[in-house]
Amino acid sequence: MSSPSQNTLKIGIVGFGRFAQFLAKTMIKQGHCITATSRSDYSNLSTQMGVSFFRNMIEFLESENDVILLCTSILSLSQVISTIPLNFLKKPALFADVLSVKEHPRELMLQVLPHETDVLCTHPMFGPDSGKHGWKDLNFMYDKVRIRNEDICSSFLHIFSSEGCKMMEMTCEEHDKLAAKTQFLTHAVGRFLGEMDIARTPIDTLGFQKLVELKETTMRDSFDLFSGLFIHNRFAREELKRLELAFETIKQKLLLKGKDDK
Ligand code: NAP
Repeated sequence: MSSPSQNTLKIGIVGFGRFAQFLAKTMIKQGHCITATSRSDYSNLSTQMGVSFFRNMIEFLESENDVILLCTSILSLSQVISTIPLNFLKKPALFADVLSVKEHPRELMLQVLPHETDVLCTHPMFGPDSGKHGWKDLNFMYDKVRIRNEDICSSFLHIFSSEGCKMMEMTCEEHDKLAAKTQFLTHAVGRFLGEMDIARTPIDTLGFQKLVELKETTMRDSFDLFSGLFIHNRFAREELKRLELAFETIKQKLLLKGKDDK
């Protein structure tokens, strides 16, 4: 008999955009059964992938998923979650999310979802670019916010641990503090480089090549994602201030040095 952590799950994805499709490929490879619903119509793509796509949210909820996985943009989650007709849920399910901020979905899920549903907040700290050659050694953050059915939860987490992810259990608050200093900063710098439209030249240093790569990977993510990292992470504002201050300090040092050396 297989252990609970290896159970095959029925996973219903809400928001079948770029990141959800990327996750679904690995879940399907592992033998899980995937259903999805989204604002846009992904029927054709879903058929090709082996995903059952529902345009109708009620039919999606009635399809008896073990896990409902929220993969919408950070900015739209509040609206999306408040319009899910939860009374059509056939059985208590585990609600999990993959948003790149964590306090915001935690609060929303605890506010809106019925008490009998379990809540797991997660953040796979990688995406379609960084995870295209597999998920080994990539960080996966999670917070078991309200878990009674340990079997379903551990089967879901097993999707990531079995691919070799580094499983990092921490609170949503701890995540947001660290992510503001790391992920938000990375995206902000990538966006600045995008705004400057930096491009390859015949004499690039390795350092500059890395900057171009950072610009390219950042710009492949939606602007909604980037703004969500700022608007719904209460620690990001401070990081933006630190960035502005660092820019001004360096600029003043350079201008001063220029004056001194004249
Ligand atoms: P995204 O731009 O953050 O989100 C796109 C998804 O949000 C699509 O499914 C889209 O639906 C849905 N959406 C956007 N606005 C909506 C609205 N007003 N109403 C309903 N649905 C709406 O891009 P993403 O890269 O696919 O990211 C999805 C989630 O995964 C985000 O929460 C992000 O923070 C998280 N995440 C992303 C990465 C990454 O590397 N990209 C990594 C880890 C976590 P339609 O496609 O149907 O329009």
